[in-house]
Amino acid sequence: MVGALGKMGREVVRAVAQTPDMKLVGAVARSQLGSDIGEVLGLGSLGVEITDDLSGQLLRLSQRSSRGVMVDFTHPRSAFEHVRSAIAFGVRPVVGTTGLTPEQVERLRDLADKSGVGCLIAPNFAIGMILLQQMALQAAQYFDHVEIIELHHNRKADAPSGTALQTAQRLGQLGKAFNPPVRDSGTESSVEEKELIPGARGGISGPNIPIHSVRLPGLIAHQEVIFGGMGQTLTLRHDTTDRIAFMPGVILGIRKVLQLQGLVYGLEQVLS
Ligand code: NAD
Repeated sequence: MVGALGKMGREVVRAVAQTPDMKLVGAVARSQLGSDIGEVLGLGSLGVEITDDLSGQLLRLSQRSSRGVMVDFTHPRSAFEHVRSAIAFGVRPVVGTTGLTPEQVERLRDLADKSGVGCLIAPNFAIGMILLQQMALQAAQYFDHVEIIELHHNRKADAPSGTALQTAQRLGQLGKAFNPPVRDSGTESSVEEKELIPGARGGISGPNIPIHSVRLPGLIAHQEVIFGGMGQTLTLRHDTTDRIAFMPGVILGIRKVLQLQGLVYGLEQVLS
């Protein structure tokens, strides 16, 4: 587990420790080095010392088992290198860290595909969010106008969230022209918009879907997809109220990555 002392990492350590057919073999973090991760998290000893030596852990794991998995919930600054190293050691990455650029994902896809090492990158491990995206795809068949609001705790590094970007990207794959210009009533010209504060209309993602990011203490991870049509709106909303929501998806991802050869992006790709 890389990022073992982070908010998500701690939950993953707990979840893996409670899963009978899984064994935590390494905990990589930047502090409390040498302490037993189980003791630190109040789980009792797990016999796993916290270390900052990821390469050493990957080497040991690759020698010990052909079914090694590295779970990464760290920071977009470091996740790319972690995944690259894991693939080089033949250890399968399950990546929850968001903020990797599309170019980085493509480079990792190339590495994983060439070496045949399974790799799963999922911007959201919550089943409710996968369902929200599926419902959004359904609704988009009937609505041309849509915007996304994502709300997260104020320690989140990337904006917009990886999930919001993925939602927009999946809607974009429908090939529709979203948010066509609105005509001024009674005229042939479009309504002229003027942003009085730059960014007020959000960031415009590839498929012309605005994404608005809110960062506040007290929030965890939330997303609304709002569709608008003549005389009606449809709001789809998902709220993560506890990080435990992500754990069934992470555990499933760990199982599924063992069956993959190459890189898969998105938990929905491995849900059966
Ligand atoms: P966090 O800041 O609480 O934890 C990150 C941890 O990683 C910190 O303890 C930090 O010290 C550690 N870290 C950073 N770089 C490291 C390195 N090079 N080596 C070892 N440890 C390192 O953040 P968090 O809330 O746990 O989120 C982590 C990532 O997961 C973020 O990118 C977040 O957006 C993402 N996230 C994804 C999902 C999902 O479902 N995919 C859900 C929640 C959060």
